[in-house]
Amino acid sequence: MLDQVLPALTELARGVQRRASLDENLQQLVDETARLFRASHASVRLLDPSHTQLVAACRSGPSVHPRPVEFQPGEGLVGWIVEHGEPLRVADPASDPRFVPKPGFSGMGPFVGAPLLSSNVCLGALSVVRDEPFSATEEQLLELIAAICAPPLEIARLSRLSRLDPLTGALNRRGLEEGYAPEAAPTGEKRVAVLMVDIDHFKSINDAHGHLVGDEVLRRIARQLSCVLRTSDAIVRYGGEEFLLLLADVTLDEAMAVSERARRAIESQTIRVTHVPLRVTVSTGVAMQRTDEPLGAAVERADAALYRAKRDGRNRVLSAT
Ligand code: GH3
Ligand code: MG
Ligand code: MG
Repeated sequence: MLDQVLPALTELARGVQRRASLDENLQQLVDETARLFRASHASVRLLDPSHTQLVAACRSGPSVHPRPVEFQPGEGLVGWIVEHGEPLRVADPASDPRFVPKPGFSGMGPFVGAPLLSSNVCLGALSVVRDEPFSATEEQLLELIAAICAPPLEIARLSRLSRLDPLTGALNRRGLEEGYAPEAAPTGEKRVAVLMVDIDHFKSINDAHGHLVGDEVLRRIARQLSCVLRTSDAIVRYGGEEFLLLLADVTLDEAMAVSERARRAIESQTIRVTHVPLRVTVSTGVAMQRTDEPLGAAVERADAALYRAKRDGRNRVLSAT
């Protein structure tokens, strides 16, 4: 067994240090673990930032639940592992008192899980399910894998967090500088489009309804802007109530159409946070990144177009000249 396990462990340990993104690290971890244990299912659940839910973060193989479900620390087999910080091996989950079947659950085979511990803090759990029972040695092996992988996973998680705006979940300025690399180079008609979106008269929302309502409006606008994006695009919280959208590989007409769609969606939505329904509008400046031009130069042109959109009466989209 060792002659198969050791090279796989080495590759896994090196892989999770090498890969920059948390998602890639997690995928490698569950895929390698499933392969090593000849299992149909391996998955990682991570505690959310408030430490109240164990959220499914990554999976290899089909899910054991028909719909996404969450567990609390202390709930179910995975919750037990996280609460105790210890591994757990169960031959017949359905007959274990710690097991909590979620709605629609149709049974599962033998289970083994281990805590992901970094600096003595439990981040979540790595677990494996297959048809054959697991041995005590396999439980120890899983514990070792989790122990090796948890610290680099935590570094990747913190690195991701440091690039996100905590209020809206959009990238922050640092995330823009370090994280966004559009797939297509700015050549031909299809380029990177820079959309500078600013909420109109946002100060008056804060003044009339308070800062917390203002915060919720910011969250909702960020969500609506995200709805028009594809996976290759990015949304950045560029200033207090200003969002920068980057659209990869589009023409100016396409970028204008996307901006207009977002503007109309926001204009037509009623935001209900307090008993007073709110209507919010945004103004947008659009610029296309030119060949050999740094992104910052296109941002400046988008900003100038935004300024004109404000001056011309707000709630409109203008392209850079
Ligand atoms: P304009 O249409 O010209 O853009 O007017 P405006 O009121 O939106 O712009 P202004 O720059 O005068 O005010 C922006 C306001 O955004 C002021 C600031 O208090 C508020 N703001 C910035 N960041 C946050 C935040 O994180 N939460 C809340 N609630 N308000 C914020
Ligand atoms: Mg504003
Ligand atoms: Mg502003």
